[in-house]
Order: sequence, then C-alpha cells, then structure tokens
Amino acid sequence: MNQVISFSGGKDSTAMALLMLEKGEAIHSVIAFDTGWEFPAMLEHWDKFEQYTGLKIVSLTPREPFDYWLFDRPIIAKKGPNKGQVHRLGNGWPSPMRRWCTREKVNAIRRHLKIIDDPLSCIGFAADEAHRAGSISGQDIKQRYPLIEWDIDEAEALQICQHHGFTWGGLYDHFRRVSCFCCPLQRLGELRTLRREFPDLWQTMLGWDSRCKGNNPGFRGYETVLDLDRRFGEEDRQIIFNFDGVVNG
Ligand code: SF4
Repeated sequence: MNQVISFSGGKDSTAMALLMLEKGEAIHSVIAFDTGWEFPAMLEHWDKFEQYTGLKIVSLTPREPFDYWLFDRPIIAKKGPNKGQVHRLGNGWPSPMRRWCTREKVNAIRRHLKIIDDPLSCIGFAADEAHRAGSISGQDIKQRYPLIEWDIDEAEALQICQHHGFTWGGLYDHFRRVSCFCCPLQRLGELRTLRREFPDLWQTMLGWDSRCKGNNPGFRGYETVLDLDRRFGEEDRQIIFNFDGVVNG
C-alpha cells in the first residue's frame, strides 16, 4: 500500500508525519489542500516542514479559487419563476448547511488519491477526536488514523511538534485549532481573537464581506462580518468604560 499523508499543516497532521518518519514508515507522498485562505504563518510552516523533513508537499488547489466560489460563481435557480437562470452570483460564506469549501477540498483529495496506485490515506485525527474517524467521505479509499492508533491526543501532538522546533509563529498561543483564518464555522471567541491579534486579516474579511453586498446570505447565522465587527467594537468600548469606572469610581 502507498501511504499518503493528508497534511493540513496543523499540529496533528504535522505530529503524525513526524512520528511516521521516526518509526521508519514508508511514505509515498504528502498532500495538502491550499484553500488560499491560510494564515501566512501556516504557509511558512509548510515550507519549514519540507525543509526539516525532506518531504515534498504536493499542493492541491480547488477547481476555481475560493474567492470565485464566494463572490462570482453563477448560481442557477433550481425552482421558481427563474428556474434554469442565473439568480445570483457567488455561494456566499460557508455555513454548516453550505460547506461548499469542504466539499471542494474532499473532492480534490479524492481525485488525487484515485491516480495513486493502491493508496492508504493517513489522516491526523488525534486520540481525543477519535469520534471523527470515518467522518470523511470516500470509504472506497482506505484510511488510517495513526495518532489514534498510537493514542496521541491533541496536547501531545502539539508537544511533539514543539519538540522538533515548530512554532507556527505563535498561532497556537491564540487558537486551539488552526484552519482557514476566515472560517465562519470557528468559535466566536476565535473570531474575536482574530480581530484583535490579526487586524490585517480581519480587514481583508471586512473587504470581502462588502463584496458580497446585496447578496450576502450571512456570516455565522445572519450576522455579517461588519455586524460582528460592530459587536466586538462595542464589547471593547464596554471593557474600557468598566475599567475606567473601576479606576475612577
Ligand atoms: S476551515 Fe472552514 S472555511 Fe476552511 S475549508 Fe474548512 S469549513 Fe471551509
């Protein structure tokens, strides 16, 4: 079997790759899906990983850039008076019910695995997320979860990576999990942190949000990024106001 590492660049898939190398396992290739929405520090980590391990990452990309899917893809009405016609442009932000981004990612990986002879897809789910095993579609492709086999949990995975000198520029000081910086499915607290610690990326999201204008099905429910920005801004003002009240009261 040809072991293919599914690499996101996060602590779990990085630890999995490091341990497989340590154990002398044969690795056919390392594949990563580049959404175009990665943190800059994550892309630097990909480079460092290649230099450190000598493994080359095969970078997979969506059929069209994610920005196209978000803003420009013509959406054909499936019913109603405009059936068969373009009734809006762009999928809008992903949501739990509209995970078009995940679908693109899974399909790109499946397309790639199908051109490999007898692939065994190695997925870096940690031991404390064993419930996710089998959740990735494509059961026709054999899958393996080395961290679960070796009972390595998320905290241990991070320690293993840190032991090898990987820091992700401090991303894991701020976030428990690292994926697309603009993911609407992340926790509210993480978005709050993103706005505070990565204002440039937050500004990028505000700009994208305004491009969805008039056609924005929402970011996290019915809130837009601008709504969230106002909410977080108001929270900050309250904190300053309360602090002043305590200090001066
Ligand atoms: S991290 Fe979020 S935005 Fe990125 S592919 Fe996954 S669900 Fe989509």
